[in-house]
Amino acid sequence: MTIDLHTHSNKSDGTDSPKELIANAVAAGLTVVALTDHDSTEGWTEADKAAKRADIRLIKGIEISTKLSGKSIHLLGYEFDPTDKPLLTELNKVLDGRNSRLPATLERLRDIGIDIDAKDVRRHSSNAAAMGRPHVADALVELGVVANRDEAFAKYLTPGKPAYVDRYAADLVTAIRLVKAAGGRTVLAHPWSRGSHRVLTATQIGALKEVGLDGLEIDHNDHSADDRAELAYIAKKLDLVRTGSSDYHGTGKIDFELGCNTTAVDQFNRLFGG
Ligand code: AMP
Ligand code: ZN
Ligand code: FE
Ligand code: FE
Repeated sequence: MTIDLHTHSNKSDGTDSPKELIANAVAAGLTVVALTDHDSTEGWTEADKAAKRADIRLIKGIEISTKLSGKSIHLLGYEFDPTDKPLLTELNKVLDGRNSRLPATLERLRDIGIDIDAKDVRRHSSNAAAMGRPHVADALVELGVVANRDEAFAKYLTPGKPAYVDRYAADLVTAIRLVKAAGGRTVLAHPWSRGSHRVLTATQIGALKEVGLDGLEIDHNDHSADDRAELAYIAKKLDLVRTGSSDYHGTGKIDFELGCNTTAVDQFNRLFGG
């Protein structure tokens, strides 16, 4: 089995449609793939239909934008009830925050002489519910202001840069509780990636386990070999599941190809049964 538990479609900031994602996952030799769009389950139905026709198992997931002590943390949620009211209410708050950030971002860009219309950004986001900075980046690329998404983030869209605007994110502990109450599993996405490097200590991760955290995404391209070894030690001590995944975004993120990191079968079975 080849298991990849973190991918994005164009229902957030990936570039494949859910159907294309499934086809590419099959072509990459995956036997299990999780669709984990940012803050939205919009792609589940299309992905499910495609996966049933192909020889691949779909895990239905999400990557929720959360905060812990003011720092941004991404939480992977899997196989929860997508109609659960309390969870949906919180996700809608996060999606509202994404939408209300867009005009503020475009205003900042206008202040420095870059004129982009909201409609252009929406076109790049395929009108998905979960629009984000990568779609603004795509509009900047189209305008010829930057060469690619990375350059757009580095010059304009990260904290401290002229067009950065903060947005609402769910409280991490609340988000874990909501996904668990909706019958799901929870895994911290790339816990020590650049943005969140060492924000989460072993003690904090232990406290998150107490509220329902199931696992840590250890094998991820944002983690060095040292990070992985240390996180593996923490996971073992706390009896948390160790996952690995690509965080594939189609052509939106270079060197995050499907299956570039994978989850071991025994760890997968701990999360989802045999
Ligand atoms: P947002 O969801 O709007 O806050 O934008 C953050 C998302 O943009 C992350 O989840 C990544 O998927 C993506 N991202 C972050 N940094 C970069 C970068 N340097 N280049 C391309 N995409 C990025
Ligand atoms: Zn993303
Ligand atoms: Fe993430
Ligand atoms: Fe992701």
